[in-house]
This record gives sequence, C-alpha cells and structure tokens, in this order.
Amino acid sequence: HLSVSHVSKSFGGVKVLVDQCLDVREGEFVALLGPSGCGKSTLLQIINGLIPADGGKIVLGGKDITGKTGTGRGMVFQGADLFPWRTALDNIAFGLEVVGVGKAERLERARHYLNLVGLRGFEDAWPHQLSGGMQQRVGIARAFCIQPTLLMMDEPFGALDVQTRDVLQDELVRIWEAEPKTVLFVTHGIEEALYLADRILVYSKRPARVLREITVPFARPRREDIKLDPQFLE
Ligand code: ATP
Ligand code: MG
Repeated sequence: HLSVSHVSKSFGGVKVLVDQCLDVREGEFVALLGPSGCGKSTLLQIINGLIPADGGKIVLGGKDITGKTGTGRGMVFQGADLFPWRTALDNIAFGLEVVGVGKAERLERARHYLNLVGLRGFEDAWPHQLSGGMQQRVGIARAFCIQPTLLMMDEPFGALDVQTRDVLQDELVRIWEAEPKTVLFVTHGIEEALYLADRILVYSKRPARVLREITVPFARPRREDIKLDPQFLE
C-alpha cells in the first residue's frame, strides 16, 4: 500500500503540488493523466525521494519513506536512460549492484528479466545498438529486477511509435501479471490509461488537483473496445 498525504511542493514561489493526497492499494495499477507542467513527474520524483517535498508524508508498505531514496521503488523514464557504458545485461543488474547483491546472483537475476522482456541474445549489446523499443524493454527489466514494491513509470512509451507502443503495453501487462506490483503510470494517452490501468486520476493544471477519477471496471478491456471516437477527444 502506498499512501501520499498532504504533500506540497513549490519551485521558486510557484505552487506545483498543494496538499496532495493519494492512496494506492497493493497490486493496483494507477494511471496519472494531466496537462503538461501540472506536476506529475514532480510527484513521482518526490515519492522516489529524488526531490524533497516542502511538506507531507509518504508511506509505502507501512514504512515512512518520506525524502528517502531506494528501498522498494523502481522507476522507468520516457527515454530508458540506460548507462551507455554498460551492456544490456549490466544495465539490468545495476540496481542489484547498488544494494550489494553478489555478482553471480546479480547476473542470474538480470538474465531472468532480460529473457522476460524478450531480449534473449542481447545480453552483451550496448544501448546504442538497441532500438528505442528495445532500450525501453531494458529499462523495464532494470526496474523489475530490483523487485520493487512500487513501480513508477513516467511516460515510458511516450517516445515510441504506435506499433511499438502497443507491443510494449502488452509486454508490460504480461510481465506485470507474472509479477504483480503496485504501479503508478504517467501518460498523456487516455486510451493507454484505459487499456492498462485499474484506476485513472485526471489532474488539473498546476497546482494539480484531481478533477476526475475513473475506475476501469473490466479486468482488461480489449484494445478495440477503447479506440476512442476522435470527436470525443476534441
Ligand atoms: P509533463 O506532462 O510535461 O511531463 P509534468 O506534469 O510532469 O509535465 P512537472 O515536470 O512535474 O510536470 O513540472 C511541474 C511544474 O514544476 C512545471 O511548471 C515545471 O516548470 C516546474 N518544475 C519542475 N521541476 C522543476 C525544477 N527542478 N525547478 C524549477 N521548476 C521546476
Ligand atoms: Mg513529466
């Protein structure tokens, strides 16, 4: 269970988050939507402990993690942000190295996740040798590899073409169903949110307020059922 309570954040007098509260139950997949600049990435970075909040509290699995990095959280960014000087396998194993897992176990676990995202045979490839979609697969494997309680994804498929994005959405669903996690998923795509999430929070422009909360009643809607009428999106 993730509980964000009364988190506030300003940058140079500009209020981005005001008294922000959010509860996500264990295993729930929550999508965050909202206009550019409303504070979605800031919220994720605060939960991740990478940006200090001005006030408020973050509790994950009963532990107060306010302002702390590490422990139980994995993150995937829009560009996979791989280390260019590490091979695919070493990128995936990186998080385990940080927490001091021995080399043999590290590589074995990394290989499991590399295979899980369909990159068998690409262990020794360098990031620049991989396509954008493949790099994002490595990013996903790297996040899963530390076996986080909470997985945060900030527009992970935003930079991919439509076909690759659809494939990776399905990959994510498959991996997530094999190893369920609590997920916070930031996206600009309402269709993507409807396809992936159990619950969708739509934020206003900053300071971010939840304008609408949508619960998706189906276990997993079919993609063809959620192709929206373009007029609806205008
Ligand atoms: P997008 O959808 O474009 O990614 P976002 O919802 O993720 O937008 P944030 O990146 O969280 O938005 O930014 C929220 C606001 O905070 C913006 O106005 C941004 O300019 C500001 N901001 C974010 N980080 C900083 C920073 N380090 N210093 C100053 N202002 C910042
Ligand atoms: Mg952002």
